[in-house]
Amino acid sequence: MELHEFTLKQQLDGLRNSTFSSVELTQNYLKRIKSKDPSINSYITVTEELALKQAEDADDRYSKGKALTLDGIPIAHKDIFCTEDVLTTCGSKMLSNFKAPYSSTVVSKLFDQGVVMLGKTNMDEFAMGSSNETSFFGEVKNPWNLDYVPGGSSGGSAACVSARLASAATATDTGGSIRQPAALCGLTGIKPTYGRVSRYGMIAFASSLDQGGVLARTAEDAAILLANMSGHDPKDSTSLNIEVPDYPKEISNDISGLKIGLPKEFFEQEMPDYVRKSTEEAIEVYKDLGAEIEEISFPNIDLSLPVYYVLAPAECSANLSRYDGVRYGFRCEEPKNLEDLYMRTRSEGFGAEVKRRILIGTYALSAGYYDAYYLKAQKCRRLIANDFTEAFKSVDVILSPTTPGTSFKAGDKKNDPIDMYLQDIFTIPANLAGLPGISFPCGSYNGLPLGLQLVGNSLEEGKLLSAAHHFQEVTNWHKESPEL
Ligand code: GLN
Repeated sequence: MELHEFTLKQQLDGLRNSTFSSVELTQNYLKRIKSKDPSINSYITVTEELALKQAEDADDRYSKGKALTLDGIPIAHKDIFCTEDVLTTCGSKMLSNFKAPYSSTVVSKLFDQGVVMLGKTNMDEFAMGSSNETSFFGEVKNPWNLDYVPGGSSGGSAACVSARLASAATATDTGGSIRQPAALCGLTGIKPTYGRVSRYGMIAFASSLDQGGVLARTAEDAAILLANMSGHDPKDSTSLNIEVPDYPKEISNDISGLKIGLPKEFFEQEMPDYVRKSTEEAIEVYKDLGAEIEEISFPNIDLSLPVYYVLAPAECSANLSRYDGVRYGFRCEEPKNLEDLYMRTRSEGFGAEVKRRILIGTYALSAGYYDAYYLKAQKCRRLIANDFTEAFKSVDVILSPTTPGTSFKAGDKKNDPIDMYLQDIFTIPANLAGLPGISFPCGSYNGLPLGLQLVGNSLEEGKLLSAAHHFQEVTNWHKESPEL
């Protein structure tokens, strides 16, 4: 087997047993990136020199018996996480020249455990999108079929792990951007509870919804990485000051008797037969594993999309007001005066989808409409959160498809924002309620992967990871990889 074919866990074992070195592993990925990524476009920046230096340092620590928890494992970071002295673009022209002066907590924590950074991954501009077609740095292709999208906004992270151009990758999820690309690229992706992973140095889109997480090949790999990214951070006031469980250990927890809820309103949504069929097959797998299935009701699901598309743009319009051409990032040429500087910097620096969101958000927050839109949306958000509270009185996890279908052809939904927004119909409710969600492969259709989603109660990432891990012990969907 070639080194990139091993899972992160197997690579860690190999490094610990000196079967191969981190330099060999890192070089293998760098070589693959050079030959395969030009047709996929999953990386915006490849940090070759830094990666090799970090790999050498890791090997040095192994030889001295002083290895760190994740020493020498090469991963990629979504280009939304600030990395000191390394370009951090958020997929936008606005930050196309921005070298972050500091590293985000997620990146620092992983560096502290010896992780090697291969580079920064492509993404939808400011994480707004479901297809990775809105990046200033070009579209990302789905490694399973280059005519199809990898999903978004963490499309670069998903495509690079799926194409075996990194062992795993960091990602963020505001309305589905970890779980949806995980589903479309055949990966395991987990969005933890809001506040579990620090948002310090993670460029803001919609602060009350954004959460960092992981895209990996298996639930086991996701557990290993998540355990090392999570934890309290005094630099993020919404970070939870609660001990992080030992996720890699928790994945083995018994799941017999696990109560799985099927929200009947989710299954009433329009979806092709193949999605229904693979979800039903997955339910059978869980029954065989000893889980108990129960129908539950989620009466307010229809509010999720409209609520999200008021709140996320409202928060984004406030967050993105900082890009004014004055302090950092892109600045228009030869501004005539201050107003001209603001106007042209923002109209030239932002792409169409970002502008659409800023306009919607500014409108929803404006004096005359605040009560009618923003306040109303906040109240509806509470109703959706209440649906979850009610459901978790009788079940442990909530099961549904991750997306209403497999990946779609690039260009197919680009000019129909509503159709694009529907991609997140099953994922958005968890963000609105701040709950953890996981997606993992459960089938395929026409050679493209499909994902299954489980949403858990607050801080129950361990339960989700163990449910996914047990599924992966008896199925092979997660072992399939695209031919490149
Ligand atoms: N697709 C959703 C959006 O465009 C979610 C994005 C995300 O989770 N970052 O807003």
